[in-house]
Amino acid sequence: MVKIINKSLLNKIYHQIKKYDQIVILRHVGADPDAICSSFALRDAIRLTFPTKKVYASGVGVAKFKKFGALDKLDYENIKDCLLIVLDVPNMSRIDGIDNLKYKEILQIDHHPKLDIKASIAWIDESKSSTCQMVAELILNTKLVLDTKIAENLFLGIVSDSERFSLKNTTIETFETVINLLKKSHIDFTNLYEKLYTRSFSEYKFIAYITNNLVIDKNHFGYIKISDEILKEYGVDASTPANLINNYNFIDELLIWCFITEDVKNNQYKISIRSRGPIINEIASRYNGGGHKFASGAKVKKMSDVDNLIKDLSKACEEYENREN
Ligand code: AMP
Repeated sequence: MVKIINKSLLNKIYHQIKKYDQIVILRHVGADPDAICSSFALRDAIRLTFPTKKVYASGVGVAKFKKFGALDKLDYENIKDCLLIVLDVPNMSRIDGIDNLKYKEILQIDHHPKLDIKASIAWIDESKSSTCQMVAELILNTKLVLDTKIAENLFLGIVSDSERFSLKNTTIETFETVINLLKKSHIDFTNLYEKLYTRSFSEYKFIAYITNNLVIDKNHFGYIKISDEILKEYGVDASTPANLINNYNFIDELLIWCFITEDVKNNQYKISIRSRGPIINEIASRYNGGGHKFASGAKVKKMSDVDNLIKDLSKACEEYENREN
């Protein structure tokens, strides 16, 4: 069944955007292509539609995502009573750049389960593949203007978060939105994949390192602890493992797998978790984490917490297998 687009909600969002002269767009910390591309696409569409508005997309920059566009530096002193649009993030503590920002109200567009953000208009829909799909639907169904660059970013965010339309978050609606996007923009989509998937050879060697050192237990739970030393040896950073974890989506022996990465800069362990069956975001939320049912993350300070999380995830695999049999 194809869901009917809620045009009245989309119009409400459009009119809220129209009302403000200053708009700041923020997304989650540790940005991924969906978070980055949805911010740039919405910012550029608002700028194109309303050239006199001041619209900023901000947050900490990620070097490898520079190809998607340029972030704006926020002048926190001079931005007052703006509309804050938060994309791809469900909780206040994970909005990148919100500290010291004086905003009047929040507009939220997100596909994560709802958490503590209190927005005057919230469009939250867990059935969407990506925030980019939602922003594409917003632009395609209102008077917001689309150009080639905006369509490219939206396409890349959808492709990335749906893992090339292979994850369960991919629906008929996702394909419909992409078809409409392609028909309206005529983007050269096959050449765009390069922007998402080109890597250095040393990153490929790092993938080989992960593959060779992933521990898989009797419950089909896989994990690897990646030290700062190893990151340095392969010339990658603490955010790289999260971008590689979906490479392991179709491995027979794995039910849940996670990468635990030492993040020296922030004195913590950064954990990415994926599942082919058991629900993992409830477990992640017990370890300063969260996310989607089958794609979650967490951050902990102590190795003892890492070890407890490993035990909980392995147990979830065991329970899932017992339930299935
Ligand atoms: P990642 O493994 O970093 O790609 O994250 C997978 C999903 O989990 C994304 O939806 C993230 O927004 C979410 N996530 C990652 N880390 C955390 C965290 N510490 N707290 C809450 N959600 C997280």
